[in-house]
Amino acid sequence: MYEKYTTGSEEEKTQLEKRYGKRQLGLLVDTVLSEKWVNSRSKPCPHCSVPIEKFEGCNKVTCFKCSTYFCWICHKQLDVGNPYSHFNNPSSPCYNSLFRDDDDNDEDRDEDEDDSDFDFDDYTSDEMD
Ligand SMILES: [Zn+2]
Ligand SMILES: [Zn+2]
Repeated sequence: MYEKYTTGSEEEKTQLEKRYGKRQLGLLVDTVLSEKWVNSRSKPCPHCSVPIEKFEGCNKVTCFKCSTYFCWICHKQLDVGNPYSHFNNPSSPCYNSLFRDDDDNDEDRDEDEDDSDFDFDDYTSDEMD
Protein backbone atom coordinates (compact mmCIF):
# COMPACT_ATOMS: atom_id res chain seq x y z
CA MET A 1 0.00 0.00 0.00
CA TYR A 2 2.87 2.32 0.77
CA GLU A 3 4.42 1.64 -2.61
CA LYS A 4 1.11 2.24 -4.31
CA TYR A 5 0.61 5.50 -2.52
CA THR A 6 4.09 6.91 -3.12
CA THR A 7 4.55 5.68 -6.66
CA GLY A 8 0.94 5.62 -7.83
CA SER A 9 -0.76 8.18 -10.02
CA GLU A 10 -2.68 11.14 -8.63
CA GLU A 11 -5.90 9.23 -9.21
CA GLU A 12 -4.72 6.22 -7.21
CA LYS A 13 -3.56 8.49 -4.43
CA THR A 14 -6.88 10.25 -4.27
CA GLN A 15 -8.65 6.91 -4.12
CA LEU A 16 -6.44 5.69 -1.30
CA GLU A 17 -6.87 8.97 0.52
CA LYS A 18 -10.62 8.65 0.29
CA ARG A 19 -10.47 5.11 1.55
CA TYR A 20 -7.99 5.42 4.42
CA GLY A 21 -7.90 9.14 5.05
CA LYS A 22 -5.15 11.48 4.04
CA ARG A 23 -3.85 11.91 7.55
CA GLN A 24 -3.55 8.16 8.08
CA LEU A 25 -1.65 7.77 4.85
CA GLY A 26 0.62 10.64 5.74
CA LEU A 27 1.44 8.90 9.01
CA LEU A 28 2.12 5.67 7.18
CA VAL A 29 4.48 7.35 4.76
CA ASP A 30 6.23 9.12 7.63
CA THR A 31 6.65 5.88 9.52
CA VAL A 32 8.02 3.97 6.58
CA LEU A 33 10.34 6.79 5.68
CA SER A 34 11.70 7.15 9.20
CA GLU A 35 12.21 3.40 9.41
CA LYS A 36 14.12 3.45 6.18
CA TRP A 37 16.05 6.38 7.54
CA VAL A 38 17.15 4.54 10.64
CA ASN A 39 17.90 1.32 8.81
CA SER A 40 20.15 2.87 6.24
CA ARG A 41 21.73 5.41 8.56
CA SER A 42 22.03 7.71 5.60
CA LYS A 43 20.58 11.01 4.51
CA PRO A 44 20.40 12.54 1.06
CA CYS A 45 22.68 15.44 0.28
CA PRO A 46 20.58 18.63 0.30
CA HIS A 47 22.33 19.72 -2.85
CA CYS A 48 22.56 16.66 -5.14
CA SER A 49 20.44 14.13 -3.18
CA VAL A 50 23.09 11.44 -3.18
CA PRO A 51 22.71 9.30 -0.02
CA ILE A 52 25.34 10.19 2.55
CA GLU A 53 26.34 7.95 5.41
CA LYS A 54 27.71 9.29 8.61
CA PHE A 55 30.85 7.53 9.77
CA GLU A 56 32.25 9.63 12.57
CA GLY A 57 30.59 11.24 15.52
CA CYS A 58 30.91 14.65 13.93
CA ASN A 59 27.61 16.07 12.74
CA LYS A 60 29.20 18.10 10.00
CA VAL A 61 29.06 15.80 7.01
CA THR A 62 30.50 16.29 3.57
CA CYS A 63 28.94 15.04 0.36
CA PHE A 64 31.42 12.83 -1.44
CA LYS A 65 29.91 13.76 -4.77
CA CYS A 66 29.47 17.52 -4.76
CA SER A 67 31.50 18.30 -1.61
CA THR A 68 28.61 20.17 -0.04
CA TYR A 69 28.83 20.47 3.72
CA PHE A 70 25.65 19.89 5.58
CA CYS A 71 24.41 19.46 9.11
CA TRP A 72 23.44 15.92 10.00
CA ILE A 73 20.97 17.06 12.63
CA CYS A 74 18.87 19.64 10.81
CA HIS A 75 19.93 18.71 7.27
CA LYS A 76 20.83 22.28 6.45
CA GLN A 77 23.44 23.12 3.87
CA LEU A 78 26.44 24.72 5.54
CA ASP A 79 28.67 27.57 4.55
CA VAL A 80 31.56 26.16 2.51
CA GLY A 81 33.96 28.74 3.86
CA ASN A 82 33.10 28.14 7.49
CA PRO A 83 30.92 25.06 8.00
CA TYR A 84 31.63 24.95 11.70
CA SER A 85 29.98 28.30 12.33
CA HIS A 86 26.72 26.38 12.24
CA PHE A 87 27.85 24.65 15.43
CA ASN A 88 29.72 27.55 16.97
CA ASN A 89 27.11 30.24 16.58
CA PRO A 90 24.86 30.52 19.66
CA SER A 91 21.96 31.67 17.48
CA SER A 92 22.15 28.47 15.43
CA PRO A 93 19.69 25.67 16.25
CA CYS A 94 22.60 23.24 16.33
CA TYR A 95 24.87 25.29 18.53
CA ASN A 96 27.23 23.02 20.49
CA SER A 97 25.94 19.97 18.66
CA LEU A 98 28.93 19.14 16.52
CA PHE A 99 29.52 15.92 18.40
CA ARG A 100 26.05 15.33 19.72
CA ASP A 101 25.05 11.74 19.33
CA ASP A 102 21.63 10.56 18.27
CA ASP A 103 21.73 7.91 20.96
CA ASP A 104 20.89 8.48 24.59
CA ASN A 105 24.54 8.45 25.39
CA ASP A 106 25.21 10.94 28.15
CA GLU A 107 28.70 11.98 29.02
CA ASP A 108 30.77 9.23 30.50
CA ARG A 109 30.52 9.53 34.20
CA ASP A 110 33.73 8.85 35.98
CA GLU A 111 32.75 7.42 39.31
CA ASP A 112 35.91 5.73 40.32
CA GLU A 113 35.22 5.34 43.97
CA ASP A 114 37.66 3.27 45.94
CA ASP A 115 35.36 0.91 47.77
CA SER A 116 37.43 -2.21 48.14
CA ASP A 117 36.50 -4.11 51.25
CA PHE A 118 39.83 -5.80 51.46
CA ASP A 119 41.36 -5.27 54.89
CA PHE A 120 45.04 -5.35 54.34
CA ASP A 121 46.02 -5.20 58.02
CA ASP A 122 44.07 -8.34 58.96
CA TYR A 123 45.51 -10.25 56.07
CA THR A 124 49.12 -9.46 56.84
CA SER A 125 48.83 -10.15 60.56
CA ASP A 126 47.36 -13.59 59.77
CA GLU A 127 50.20 -14.38 57.47
CA MET A 128 52.84 -13.26 59.91
CA ASP A 129 51.52 -15.32 62.71
ZN1 LIG B 1 25.96 16.42 -2.85
ZN1 LIG C 1 22.07 21.91 12.09
